[in-house]
Amino acid sequence: MAGVERTFDSEPPVRALREVDLTVRRGEHLSVVGPSGSGKSTLLNTLGLLDRPTVGSYRLDGIETTGLSDLERTALRGSRIGFVFQAFHLLPYRTVDENVTLAEAYRRPRPGHGRSTRRARARQALERVGLAHRSGFRPDRLSGGERQRVAIARALISDPALLLCDEPTGNLDSENTHSVLELFDDLCAQGVTLVLITHDETVSRRASRRVRITDGCLTQETR
Ligand code: ADP
Ligand code: MG
Repeated sequence: MAGVERTFDSEPPVRALREVDLTVRRGEHLSVVGPSGSGKSTLLNTLGLLDRPTVGSYRLDGIETTGLSDLERTALRGSRIGFVFQAFHLLPYRTVDENVTLAEAYRRPRPGHGRSTRRARARQALERVGLAHRSGFRPDRLSGGERQRVAIARALISDPALLLCDEPTGNLDSENTHSVLELFDDLCAQGVTLVLITHDETVSRRASRRVRITDGCLTQETR
């Protein structure tokens, strides 16, 4: 993205992103750090096509997204982007397998991702996160780290190239954080691009690159 501004028309208006220039390369693992209210979620939502810049350009895989219709943005998001949040948002009365599968039931189908292959892709996603043996379990029988890995499998069912994570380890103890971080390393090794917001120093240190955001302004960190 280049020259991105995002101003919320609240009273008074809030400039949540200011002249943000950011390039994320394929397969990169980028962490975003910054205090509460600095614009991290707005940045992630913009990268995820959930929000639109007020000014500036955002290209995803070479496609300029700012002029696209909502429908086109939704299709692009569904085919390339997965989201992971701090709260796992799993359905408590559904099995692991159903939680992963249902994520897609509400999406617009795309070629090769029809209903008939859904179960197989759910199984594959659960294998990628190391939880195929838990597919019949309910979330309440899993540890926090396992629950987050189910949420990651749910994001992976559409085989996204870009995974956007907002404080993914915020609800986890250090042991469970460790298991999720190992998984992120695996996914990066498989070529997934990862952008991850975190407050946790150990989490951000794992990234290949780190940027800091303060009052909507982005700065690159070198080390
Ligand atoms: P962070 O994720 O770093 O805590 P956010 O991106 O959520 O920060 O918010 C950045 C700034 O934009 C904050 O000042 C917040 O209050 C403001 N903001 C976020 N969303 C909205 C909105 N929908 N309307 C008005 N202001 C908003
Ligand atoms: Mg936030």
